[in-house]
Amino acid sequence: MKAALYIVPTPIGNIGDITLRALEILKAVDLIAAEDTRHSRTLLTHYDISTPLVSFHEHSENRVVEQLADRVAGGESIALISDAGTPLVSDPGYALVRGVQARGLTVIPLPGACAAITALSAAGLPTHHFHFEGFLPAKQVARVKRLEAIKSLNTTVIFYEAPHRIVDLITDMLAVFGVDHEICLARELTKTFETIRRAPLGDIREWVLNDANQQKGEFVVISGLVVQTTTLGADGRLLLARLASELPPRKAAQIVADHYGLKSRDLYQQLIAD
Ligand code: SAM
Repeated sequence: MKAALYIVPTPIGNIGDITLRALEILKAVDLIAAEDTRHSRTLLTHYDISTPLVSFHEHSENRVVEQLADRVAGGESIALISDAGTPLVSDPGYALVRGVQARGLTVIPLPGACAAITALSAAGLPTHHFHFEGFLPAKQVARVKRLEAIKSLNTTVIFYEAPHRIVDLITDMLAVFGVDHEICLARELTKTFETIRRAPLGDIREWVLNDANQQKGEFVVISGLVVQTTTLGADGRLLLARLASELPPRKAAQIVADHYGLKSRDLYQQLIAD
């Protein structure tokens, strides 16, 4: 066994979703560093793995990183696992990977389960480019601000969310992206009550509000492309013309652009061209 830190993904629900290589590594290493040792014991017992466990979580201090790096430097092999999925993806491990690499030691990643990629593969939303956002801030003002920034990325965006905030997230997304914006709600992936639904935000919000079961479990929310239109509908054109008869054209364009989520410059040019 090569002295190294192995990054080992574990199942996100279905206990069968672990690779043969991951099981071999977990059996062969000298030590497994786990986010929650009690939680991981269930998985390890299921696969008859008796490798010693040590705790490594997001509050682990530098001292713990140094101790683990010392052991790798001394010739031992260590596997890092989190409670579910791929370590470091919205999970602890960053400081440990950096600490081990800083000592010139080897980090070996294994591919495997990740809720974000699992959801993306079945969302039916564009996948050529995507942005992984993970968890948004818990406070509403900060969350909406971040959603506003995300809107301008104009790409597929993957969010993680806890069940007690899922309605708030969908409500804020609706306010920022609009009722017709398409999202995918992927709930309880790989588990008994797996539900994957893609629909406009307005429909998803109604569905989740009307069915308490849809507010339970673990969620990945994926936002599709924000359709950026530079043109106004008939109502908007009327409003723009009316405002422009009372206000300086730039001001009128700014107000209408803010209202419809368009670029003020585009509307101003439209206005002076008319
Ligand atoms: N490292 C993990 C990964 O690779 O996906 C993610 C860990 S993060 C602390 C936990 C979050 O991932 C959950 O709150 C949820 O948003 C998402 N998640 C994990 N398992 C899931 C599942 N089976 N179905 C849907 N979302 C899941």
